[in-house]
Amino acid sequence: MPSSRTLCILQPTPFCNINCDYCYLPHRSSSYKMDIDVFGKIAVELFSSKIVTAPIDFLWHLGEPLAVPISFYEKAFKIISQLGEGTGIEYSITFQTNAMLITQSWIDLFKKYKINIGVSIDGPAFIHDKKRVNKKNRGTHEQVMKGVGMLQEARIPFGVIMVVTKDSLDYPDLICDFFLENGINDIGFNIDEMDGDNLKSSFEKIEDEKFKFFIQQLLKRSVESNGKFKVREFWLNIRPFTAEVNEPVNVANRPFGIFNFDCYGNYSTFCPELITAKNEKYNNFVMGNVLTDKLDDILTNPIYLRVKREIEEGIEKCKNSCDYWSFCGGGCPSNKYFENGTFISTDTVACKYHKKMIVDALADHLEQQFS
Ligand code: SF4
Ligand code: SF4
Repeated sequence: MPSSRTLCILQPTPFCNINCDYCYLPHRSSSYKMDIDVFGKIAVELFSSKIVTAPIDFLWHLGEPLAVPISFYEKAFKIISQLGEGTGIEYSITFQTNAMLITQSWIDLFKKYKINIGVSIDGPAFIHDKKRVNKKNRGTHEQVMKGVGMLQEARIPFGVIMVVTKDSLDYPDLICDFFLENGINDIGFNIDEMDGDNLKSSFEKIEDEKFKFFIQQLLKRSVESNGKFKVREFWLNIRPFTAEVNEPVNVANRPFGIFNFDCYGNYSTFCPELITAKNEKYNNFVMGNVLTDKLDDILTNPIYLRVKREIEEGIEKCKNSCDYWSFCGGGCPSNKYFENGTFISTDTVACKYHKKMIVDALADHLEQQFS
């Protein structure tokens, strides 16, 4: 069944100006950039495909998007806007950035095209600078906050993604203080998980009680803020407590909820970590290339069919065995593959910490409220 909108993740370049300790992306030193003609083909395919459901959300990611010249995006956004007008299909455009390369010219571009912005910050400098380092292994917090300051001065709203590592767990209140004091009220967090090029996770060695306390404090601060301090993990997981959910929505493991395009025009569906992964067995998870294939050819692509079959078997196992099914819908396939060596599996470190313990904290909180 098609999802209600399509997330299209685009890699303008594999390059990143920094070198975070937990980054899962390979080829971060490659300065290759997507050719505008490749983007033109991607856009035409997306706006004409029978398997893409409008609206289309374009997300520039999988490398540092601001490492590509503004002139590329001016051309790309013109193509999107012409196709959008011609087809009547609605769309949005987002950059996920480390914010370090923001200049006034970028601010002007964000405003001109009403771009949504996501910024990666791991909290206060003493936490952020341990893992989010530049190529000389120096912390990047100061430069990130300079970019954040420019966004705020220009009144451009943005959300924040924080990566929680073992080092974050002792400081939930200082992390909340940092975000609130800096006017950042909309955060989501990922955990330092084993995926793609990141072959280790600091979560393999944490104490569960510490993580539990961390989550409880974040929840407490979010509740105390009366909705001002929004934490994605809580609002995303609250729904099954309030409404019956038979088939939970999980776009990462359903076909065509997400399309991923690398800078060479290779494409895949399912979670974005697959398109940048190296893997001989599955042809690097490439399910077609816009230079030689139509997007809808994915329906008969053998890699797609094999990955889909195996992901579905994994989802079925989850459905039959996991008490958290209605909150999760079967997890993230790349996470299962890179941790368990197969899509046909269930539990991962990420599902324990980024799903089950969060749902448990919400359940405890609701029980206290209503008892
Ligand atoms: S900013 Fe993002 S892409 Fe760059 S190294 Fe860090 S995690 Fe990787
Ligand atoms: S929490 Fe883990 S085991 Fe449960 S449904 Fe999600 S991925 Fe499967």
